[in-house]
This record gives sequence, C-alpha cells and structure tokens, in this order.
Amino acid sequence: MEKKKILIIHTGGTIGMVRTANGFAPKAGAIIEELQQIRDLNSPYMPEWDIIEFDPLLDSTNVRYEQWNSIADAIALYYDKYDGFVVLHGTDTLAYSASALSFMLEGLDKPVVFTGAQIPLCELRSDGRDNLITSMMIAADGVIREVSLCFGDAILRGNRAIKYSADGMVAFTSPNYNMLADAGISIEYNHACINDYVKSTLHSDSLNAVRLKKSRIAVIKVFPGIQFEIFEPIMCETLDGLVLETFGKGNIPDYDPALSRIISEASRCGTIVVVCTQCPAGTVSLGAYEAGSALVRSGAVSGGNMTTEAAITKLTYLLSKDLPKDEIRRLMQTDLRGELTK
Ligand code: ASP
Repeated sequence: MEKKKILIIHTGGTIGMVRTANGFAPKAGAIIEELQQIRDLNSPYMPEWDIIEFDPLLDSTNVRYEQWNSIADAIALYYDKYDGFVVLHGTDTLAYSASALSFMLEGLDKPVVFTGAQIPLCELRSDGRDNLITSMMIAADGVIREVSLCFGDAILRGNRAIKYSADGMVAFTSPNYNMLADAGISIEYNHACINDYVKSTLHSDSLNAVRLKKSRIAVIKVFPGIQFEIFEPIMCETLDGLVLETFGKGNIPDYDPALSRIISEASRCGTIVVVCTQCPAGTVSLGAYEAGSALVRSGAVSGGNMTTEAAITKLTYLLSKDLPKDEIRRLMQTDLRGELTK
C-alpha cells in the first residue's frame, strides 16, 4: 500500500525552542536537527513527511490573525500534495489557533492536527516527541478529517479545546465535547462524535481557505462589583464584536441598569455582542434568570456552550467575510464546525 504523505508546518512554540540567556526562545532550523534524531519518525509504520518552517518562528503569545492566514495559506497551497497536516505551535494560544483554522478552512476533508509541547524536544523528559508521533499517526489514519488538537493522550476537536494547565503534561481539555480519540495503548476513535461533525457541517466539495482581516474584538469578564459604564466609550464607538464572559448560564448583575442600556446602544451601532459563560463547562441559556434577562432584550446573542476561544475566532472569521450584521448574529448561534451543541 502506498504510504501516506504528511506535511509538518512548524510555526514556533516550546516544542522547537532552545535555551537562551533570557529563557527558552525559538531558533530557526533547531527542530530539523531534533526530528532527525527521533527514530520513530523513520519507522516503516510512519507516513512519509516533509517539514516547512515559518520565518520568523514565534512564541505563540505573539500569534495574530496574520499567522492564522499564513497557516491557512500553507495548507491550501499543499492541500492536493499531502494526505494530512501536523501544525507545531506554542501551547499558550494553541486552542485559539486550532479554533480559528477550523472556521477558516471551509470544506476541509483532510486531517489538520495541531500539537506542541510543555518541554522542548532538546530537553530531558520532553513531551514533544510523543505528541508529534501521535499527531502524525492521527494525520495519516485519516479518520478525523477536521481540525483537531493532539496533546498527551487526548485528541480534541480544535474549536472545543481549552488550555487548562500552565504546567501539567495533560494541558488541554474539552469540557463540553467528548474526545475525538483517546491515545492510550492503542488509538481509540470516538466515531460517533467524528461522524456527527462530518454529517452536520461539511457542505463544500473543495477547500476554500478564508483569509482573516483585522477586527476590533474585546472580551469583558463580569465580576462582582463591575462598573459597566467604564467600558461604555469603547463598547459603543469602536468595537466590531464583544464577548461577554458572564456568570453561570448567562447572568449579569441587574442592580445597575447601565449594562443593558450600553449593550442596546452598542448593538444599535453594529457591535455584535456574544454572551459566553465564565464556567469552563455548561451552556448559556439567556433569560433563564431575571438577572440576565436584560441581555435578551438588548440585542446580545447567546454563545451557547462555545468556548471563549471559539467565540472570538468565529467572530473574527464571520466579520472577515463582510456579512450583514444580522447574518453574523444568526451564524454566531448556528453550529458551523461542531463548535456548539444545539
Ligand atoms: N510561550 C510558549 C508558546 O506558546 C509556551 C509553549 O509553547 O508551551 O509559544
């Protein structure tokens, strides 16, 4: 049987970093030497692979929509030549990037697996080697033909993942959706979850990589005593989109009517206001409590059980398509790539 071909796209992050006087930092070419020393990568059971490296390599804290465009461009350029793609990326914004690419790659029908490491490949006890080998196998198997995130033994839907540990080796979780696969002694696929995605969201026959544009998005986390009027000038005058991280099921304090007035005004001016919950798990249900019902009346839309990462990147994607505001509001509440449960 012909071997599968996988393209590794190295964008930066701890996995390929080296020690410097100021701490770990990316270094061009360093990862190629490391990969040459990983025996498993040249095993007969491994797919064939090539690697491309971004210039500059980034600590992922510096990733912006421009890098998401570069990743999408690379996948589109090599889409016909490879059976799957493994994206090496820093862990800090890995969940954002996987989420962004899940929206940008319309009609994707090949695996795109994001991975990284907590410890660089050049250091003792690096988790990068196993994360890379597992990602290569997931990409070559071709069962998960969507954007996924592979870390430790978990293979998660990219737009459902969150980074939840700054230093643990099991650094990512997906609180509102089952793992797509579990890489224990063998790789067990959760076919029901994967099939569900393919059935509900693959409409296009060929890949269309949508390029993102700069958009003005803010996130406000509600906390006891928050003074909404502090945010009024930016909410009403400058923002394209606002993600509100509310309490519980979409609740905000109602002792001060300022918020609903400000949100109504922001919505009237064209800002898309999306309500997410600051709880890692569960779903927003706008109007479930009186405290919070004002959000329904003010034109805000429910983010359902989307992560904040998914809400921000979905907003960026929809704003980049220059759709009418009401269409963006409708699509924010519609499941496009398996990012929310209806
Ligand atoms: N700061 C690093 C990055 O996100 C952390 C990591 O890769 O684990 O690039």
